[in-house]
Amino acid sequence: MFRKEVLNFKTYDTMKGDHRIWLDKNESPFDLPPEFKDKMFDELKKVEFNRYPDISALPLREKLATHLGIDVSGIVVGNGSDQLIDCILDLFVGNQVVIHSPTFGMYSFYAKKKGLELVDIPLDEGYDLPCLDSYGDHVKVIFICSPNTPTGNVISRDRIVDVLEKGHPVVLDEAYIDYAHESNMGLVEEYENLIVLRTFSKAYGLAAMRVGYAVARPSVIRQLSKIVSPFIMNKISMKMAEMMLEQDELIREHAEYIKNERDKLISEFSEYAHPSETNFVMLDLDAYDYLLERGIVVRKLGGRLKGKIRITVGTVGENRDVTAALKDFLSAKGC
Ligand SMILES: *Cc1c(COP(=O)(O)O)cnc(C)c1O
Repeated sequence: MFRKEVLNFKTYDTMKGDHRIWLDKNESPFDLPPEFKDKMFDELKKVEFNRYPDISALPLREKLATHLGIDVSGIVVGNGSDQLIDCILDLFVGNQVVIHSPTFGMYSFYAKKKGLELVDIPLDEGYDLPCLDSYGDHVKVIFICSPNTPTGNVISRDRIVDVLEKGHPVVLDEAYIDYAHESNMGLVEEYENLIVLRTFSKAYGLAAMRVGYAVARPSVIRQLSKIVSPFIMNKISMKMAEMMLEQDELIREHAEYIKNERDKLISEFSEYAHPSETNFVMLDLDAYDYLLERGIVVRKLGGRLKGKIRITVGTVGENRDVTAALKDFLSAKGC
């Protein structure tokens, strides 16, 4: 009765429990300022809960268009960028989904759910895109995450362009772009085969609200919009995302704080740290259990990254604690 894709599926789960410091999900450590929350709740009082939201999320898309300096016809919003990944896999012909591991887990999650063939062409030794002559004839879509998780580095623009030149549909996931030195969203103007994904879950601090969006040429967005479920976005999430777009100053301040803290962590552990343009750092230290015993949850990496951990940059206090714990770990090891 159940599809074999479902029977073989592994439940996606994350760490739970009563721990002191959570640095495992790349969330922002900043909740909204209380006075801003008050303002938001006042706005929410005006929402008519009995009425469906705008069917194409137009008010939010218009604010995004202004924010990004592009036309509203080039934007679609989704219930988290995760939902857009799901929809994009229904958009194109072909049966192969190309990923470049190690990378974000949701690309393979949705590909497997749909019973598609997953083709993994690993990143090179510097975790940059491999140079390929061809991707073959059956490619549905190629996923590129830049800055990449869990490694933290950006993918070089030249290599992204090389892939785009091959003509297959490409999804460029820019979830961490607010912590990076430059975006490649401008390539959308040149390449009709490019879809850029963004989210409110990281630098915008709205992980709880589930809002993401895709930017592409209007000809692509027109098709993608057709298959994003109508009314998928709820009014409250959309209203909060709209209000956050007016908080540019605050978002920039928070991102600066995180980048500064990230660079402190990297220089503290320079022998073990991988370069990062994100709000996390990958360290070549097998310290997951050691940190957990001290109430600090980080991400344990596996496969090719076995023995490494990924630490989300937190508040100054949290970073001070994790730094002290890691120094103890190193001295216990005799380093
Ligand atoms: C966190 C993250 C997302 C965000 O997904 P949402 O569904 O918008 O919360 C997307 N891509 C990557 C690479 C991420 O790390």
